[in-house]
Amino acid sequence: MIETLQSVPPEFDTPTYRDVLSQLDAAAEWVHLDRNIWKRLRLPQRALCVTVPVRMDSGDVHVFQGFRVQHDSSLGPTKGGVRYHPAVDLGEVAALAMNMTLKCALVGLPYGGAKGGIRCNPKNMSRGELQRLTRRYTTEILPLIGPDHDIPAPDVGTNDQVMAWMMDTYSQQRGYAVPGVVTGKPICIGGSLGREEATGRGVVYVTMEVLRRLGIKAEGATAVVQGFGNVGSVAARFLTSQGIRVIGVSDSACGVYNNRGLNVADLISYKKAKHTFEGYPGGERITNEALLELPCTILVPAALSGQITEDNANRLQCRVIVEGANSPTTRGADEILKERGIFAVPDILANSGGVIVSYFEWVQDLQKYFWKEKEINDKLHEVITTAFNKVFEFSATENIDMRRASMVNAIKRLADAHLVRGLYP
Ligand code: NAD
Repeated sequence: MIETLQSVPPEFDTPTYRDVLSQLDAAAEWVHLDRNIWKRLRLPQRALCVTVPVRMDSGDVHVFQGFRVQHDSSLGPTKGGVRYHPAVDLGEVAALAMNMTLKCALVGLPYGGAKGGIRCNPKNMSRGELQRLTRRYTTEILPLIGPDHDIPAPDVGTNDQVMAWMMDTYSQQRGYAVPGVVTGKPICIGGSLGREEATGRGVVYVTMEVLRRLGIKAEGATAVVQGFGNVGSVAARFLTSQGIRVIGVSDSACGVYNNRGLNVADLISYKKAKHTFEGYPGGERITNEALLELPCTILVPAALSGQITEDNANRLQCRVIVEGANSPTTRGADEILKERGIFAVPDILANSGGVIVSYFEWVQDLQKYFWKEKEINDKLHEVITTAFNKVFEFSATENIDMRRASMVNAIKRLADAHLVRGLYP
């Protein structure tokens, strides 16, 4: 059946796109998805490539490439982050947009999926260059975005300041403040309490449900976290607060390991001051490769895609993987993990805390009425644990893994929306 589907157009044909697509195909086949909806979901609805010329501090003009992809809008406006990274390409952005559609559908949000990105190295750019890059990119994608249309958010290499520039650029064009055009903004311009920590917090809410369901006690459990940015550092902090011993963490340069447990608050301060774990006195230095293979109860990949591969999946020594990052596990690795009985919670479920609280932020912006942090965290807990338990029970009843069960639940919701809306014209 899959062979007779349209092949992937060359502009999207990258390893990340092929991985996400093969997961979609496998779940669509399993659930006997209507063939016409299946064909439609394999490709994004819209993909915009933009050229972003920026006057650099040197006086030269550098021309960057940017993208915004909207995968599916059957459930509502599209939603997804903006990534600034040297490896950004159209295929990766399209794959991440497809993932967003599935994620929003899975956790019951009234959104479709989108993603954006600029191929650049934000670490080598000044604040002024980043601001000019962001404002010009926002202007170029302006026809696609808006609070009822497509709502960007932060992702790798972007943050609340970048969202503030995007919100301001959009608002200047409209002539009035439009906070609902982006989420993940600073609180003072309509951001939500709890948004910055939401993804890492959600990862930990899911982890605690996994431990409960598998009958593993937090006390005595150990965790390893790859990536120490927004998601990884918050997840590590909350894991510790739940009594779980965090024994290893890393960033793109190197990692730190201490079997007795790391002091995460201390690590956060150290990293903030030195921008590296190099020289940290509370643990041994460890490479990123070795970090993933440490014996532990819970492994949280919270860096980039494609970290758990056919090469290292056989050497992992964890019982549970909770995917903080998007697409950290390749399709081949996934098969190995399944055979080895490692319990994996897929990205579209495990890291959905970010988009759930982004949804709360958007609702607050539209209502112009803001909620207390406790209310936000309680609602996040309710939405993410309800989704987790629904998937867990479905996976047990149908005897399928959590990734397949998540995909199938998401696809069913999308199929219902497509079928009832019908095909235009
Ligand atoms: P970030 O830029 O804040 O942090 C990324 C971290 O990963 C940094 O510490 C970086 O040094 C590290 N890193 C990069 N390459 C690495 C490598 N090869 N090995 C080890 N570490 C490496 O980004 P983030 O917002 O924390 O996002 C991390 C992941 O989570 C991404 O896959 C992103 O798409 C996903 N995600 C983020 C959110 C969110 O709300 N921020 C929501 C859902 C999913």
